[in-house]
Amino acid sequence: MRAVVFTAPDAPVAVTDVELAPPGPGEVRVKIAAAGVCHSDLHVRRGEWQPPVPLVMGHEGSGIVAALGPGVRGLAEGDHVVLSWVAPCGQCRYCRAGREARCQVAATVVATGGTLPDGTSRLSRDGETVYHYLGVSSFAEEAVVPASGAIKVRDDAPLDVIALVGCAVATGVGAVTNTAAVESGAQVAVIGCGGVGLSVIQGARLAGAERIVALDLRSEKLALAARLGATDVIDVSAADAAQALRDLIPDGVDYAFDAIGRISTTEQAISMLGLGGAAVLVGLPPTGARASFEPLVLAEADQRILGSNYGSVRPAIDIPALVDRYMDGQLSLDELVSSRRPLETASASLDDLEAGLALRTLLIP
Ligand SMILES: [Zn+2]
Ligand SMILES: [Zn+2]
Repeated sequence: MRAVVFTAPDAPVAVTDVELAPPGPGEVRVKIAAAGVCHSDLHVRRGEWQPPVPLVMGHEGSGIVAALGPGVRGLAEGDHVVLSWVAPCGQCRYCRAGREARCQVAATVVATGGTLPDGTSRLSRDGETVYHYLGVSSFAEEAVVPASGAIKVRDDAPLDVIALVGCAVATGVGAVTNTAAVESGAQVAVIGCGGVGLSVIQGARLAGAERIVALDLRSEKLALAARLGATDVIDVSAADAAQALRDLIPDGVDYAFDAIGRISTTEQAISMLGLGGAAVLVGLPPTGARASFEPLVLAEADQRILGSNYGSVRPAIDIPALVDRYMDGQLSLDELVSSRRPLETASASLDDLEAGLALRTLLIP
């Protein structure tokens, strides 16, 4: 099959032929309908994260189940699925407690990278092992994934756009509803209005936040943020983010979401908090990056810093519910899609994301 293969940060990302082995026990083969281009793909291309190579990129996607491995229950050929890069094992102490985003098996797949949970890859090229990215590899015509990472959703939902639910939307909305449990009437700041940040904004709107301040460098993203629920916008190309926020809300906010993951934005989020506020770290920095804050201020103001991995989602519950919210008109997904392009444009699509030009590009195999 054709797939987008990454080999090294300075080598071009290109579509080549790879072999995909049949699904093993507990796995399924999915024909990819669409794959979203995410910053976590960009981290790999920049060399900021270093999973094993060569690998097939992509970790956000949707598709149709094409084959079942031995022992798979609860899925059938033809089911519409959204791919989850956390494929819960269902048996570790976190899964048993309903905290699937912390699944120890899934965490190992993410940390060591490159294989499915059994430690092997289904991908190869001319006899050489090719690795999976985050256990998914959606920039391809097909993917073999753990069945628990192929989340069955209603089949009247448009299959391409719901790919976004598998990373950006689950991450953003989940950070609000699961990680932070934002309450109605809260005052919220959101730094970064890409696919994840706009999902945070929508999550805050759904949670009943009274004030939602969107911060970004680009005016067109701020305009979209306002349409999707932001009550105030701050163009940080023209202002110091933390000062501008204080001008608007002098006491600081209850929740500040960093949807970017730069050192500067993480530190800004912490500095925007009011008494009892929580900074929620959603966007991911390069490996090894360190931020600083003043512990005395944090302690005296009773503040918290919360890490949010994949929006603390329970994939099998939250992903179908998010698709329902989209179909009910409560959640906008179409506005997050900046373009639909063939797999061959993966490199150009990553360039657009790098330049801040694209919200979400959907690659259509
Ligand atoms: Zn992602
Ligand atoms: Zn688990």
